[in-house]
Amino acid sequence: MSVKFSSRILAAVIVLAFVLSGQVLAAGYVVFDSHNTTLKLDVPAHAVSIEDTGTMTVAKDWNLFLLNAAAAVESFTINGQAFEYMAVPFNDVAGLPDKMTRDMPEIDSAGHPQLVFLNWRDNPGPVEFALKYRAELYQDVSNIRFSNEKVGGEVTATIAEQGAYLSPQSYFVPVGDETPCTYRLTADIPGEWESISDGNLLAEETVDGRKVQTWENPYKSDGVTFFASAFTTASVEVDSVWVHCYFFPEDAHLMNNYLRATTDYVRMYSELIGPYPFDRFTIVANFFPTGYGMPGWTLLGQQVLRLPFIISTSLGHEVLHNWWGNSVFVDYESGNWCEGLTVYGADYRYKLLQSPDMARDYRKDILKQYDSYVTEENDFPLTEFKSRTSPKTRTVGYNKAMMIFHMIEREIGTEAFFQAWKNIYSRAKGQKVAWQDWIDAFQEASRVKLSHIIPDWVERPGAPTLSLEVQDFSCDGVTRNCTVKFKLMQTGQPNYRLQVPVRVSGPGGVVDTVLALKGGDASYEITRRMLMQTIEVDPDYHLFRRLYPEEVEPVVSAILGNPNKAFVSFVDTDTAGAFGAFGLNMTEDTVDILPAAMVDSLPDSDYAVVLNPAELPDYFRGRVILRDDSVRVKNIPYPRGGHTYILTGQDWNTVGKYMVILTDDYESLPRIGQLIPHYGKYSFLVFEGARNVGKGQWEVGQSPLKKKLVLEAVKKTESP
Ligand SMILES: [Zn+2]
Repeated sequence: MSVKFSSRILAAVIVLAFVLSGQVLAAGYVVFDSHNTTLKLDVPAHAVSIEDTGTMTVAKDWNLFLLNAAAAVESFTINGQAFEYMAVPFNDVAGLPDKMTRDMPEIDSAGHPQLVFLNWRDNPGPVEFALKYRAELYQDVSNIRFSNEKVGGEVTATIAEQGAYLSPQSYFVPVGDETPCTYRLTADIPGEWESISDGNLLAEETVDGRKVQTWENPYKSDGVTFFASAFTTASVEVDSVWVHCYFFPEDAHLMNNYLRATTDYVRMYSELIGPYPFDRFTIVANFFPTGYGMPGWTLLGQQVLRLPFIISTSLGHEVLHNWWGNSVFVDYESGNWCEGLTVYGADYRYKLLQSPDMARDYRKDILKQYDSYVTEENDFPLTEFKSRTSPKTRTVGYNKAMMIFHMIEREIGTEAFFQAWKNIYSRAKGQKVAWQDWIDAFQEASRVKLSHIIPDWVERPGAPTLSLEVQDFSCDGVTRNCTVKFKLMQTGQPNYRLQVPVRVSGPGGVVDTVLALKGGDASYEITRRMLMQTIEVDPDYHLFRRLYPEEVEPVVSAILGNPNKAFVSFVDTDTAGAFGAFGLNMTEDTVDILPAAMVDSLPDSDYAVVLNPAELPDYFRGRVILRDDSVRVKNIPYPRGGHTYILTGQDWNTVGKYMVILTDDYESLPRIGQLIPHYGKYSFLVFEGARNVGKGQWEVGQSPLKKKLVLEAVKKTESP
């Protein structure tokens, strides 16, 4: 789930490029300083009437701003006087005079705005503006479903019987350049509805049976979002912050759990970082699927709210975004640090609070996802990360960034790490913060030099691959000291500056150390008064690094992550419809079903999804045992009938990685296809109908980063 940010960011980057290249813009964006927006919903007409007033700064000659394409402007004034303007669709600038379009910044076409041009002949500077317009905004939302794999193509605005949603991407409030500005929004809505917008509720009254509610964001921001519907509400106060639920009546029974969990999150982060930045936090149900966090509220699809794990995962993430993203902003020009930090403070932290093992598994899953989704060819540096649009961008933008914060915490200590969180929050509310500001804050709080972090981890793509070579191992019979001499190496250029965890263990216990590795290789020795049996490098996955194939068992996400996978069916065509629907739901794209004969010679593909093969591939020997009426998976028996088995494996004919589906329940296949992206980290899944009843990971092989220590000297003396 993500913080919404306006498409202006893209345009802003392009404007900057022009400025840097020394060209003068013929038509630049106006700079809005404030928006005071009054909107009146006309639900039966799917329409909204808007009056937006405030101040903006204009340049001499041609200026422009962006406005919703459906907006019919009724009046536009500057300093109280009607002002002439020229409006054109974003994709229809060809006929405009050269002086207007020369060097005109590119427009992000996602929201399809209209361009409003003003020719300002006076001195440049701030002016008062007032813009009145009406727009019919309706998008059919009945076919929208929540997507794990693809973000984008979302609804930007709709006014319907079930509710009204207006996002910054719809340009329902005019948009100028990227400078954050103040937003106040007054909504005139049906009397039985509730509205919600960014920040705090300033005023509320009922006029002629309609409700009028005024919202204000106390911090400047880069957009405003509005939602309204007929809700059932409940609220509770925690340390003078009000937590509200705006749910649909049929979900009222869920509200108590949401209120309780949210108050815990607000309290936890207020202690960890500083006081919650708004008067209220509202969990709002949506009538179509979304997972957005806005200043002081989150908009979650009704179906999403009903998922039992949302309270312990996404909800806390959205609450934490009020500190990171919704009051302290991201300087997108140097890359978005905010998702990685929020994952670290929420999703990952909840695992850590449960147990070190769960935190370790979470980190290893991140490395496995990097393996599944990111190759040398499609990798990119974090400076280029703006928002999540695919599993690949999530893996780098969220997970790699999270691991960078983890490595920083390991390097400077937990106390200094969270002191930097407090310092940034207390100093930078309402301001944009860049990666460099974070590095400065961590250095200030710890006095540890971190100048390598940005060049190594943020400005370039990739991850190190480590290797271990044991050079000598000996034990002293008198002192009973054992010494291991070894070399750590990193392959690939350029190198990273790493703090490498190394563990030696034996019957007497375990010794963990951290060794600095600055160049391509270095030699070390560890001496302890214990019998050492093994030496391991980074056994708990504290470093963001490339895993060895031996460290990675086949998992569902590896198959999901590869765009080039073949679907092969060993059953007759009657069921091909169900398998096709499975593939469509799993990949969110139509798939071709190949006949069984193709499995020996799959073209251009080393990933496959195979339905009911005649024989199980060798990989499953010892892992899966088929009987007439049962299937044993990792020694647990399940019935054969009415069950579906998803088994991942590797190396079968020409196929590198594959997923075998065993089932006699074709009716459940389409639903299971929808579900399995949620189970990406598992090697096998068992479903009874469409209900998951078993899941797990295969054992992994011997990692090249773990070596047995053998006493050569002792062996020699013992030999005859
Ligand atoms: Zn997020």
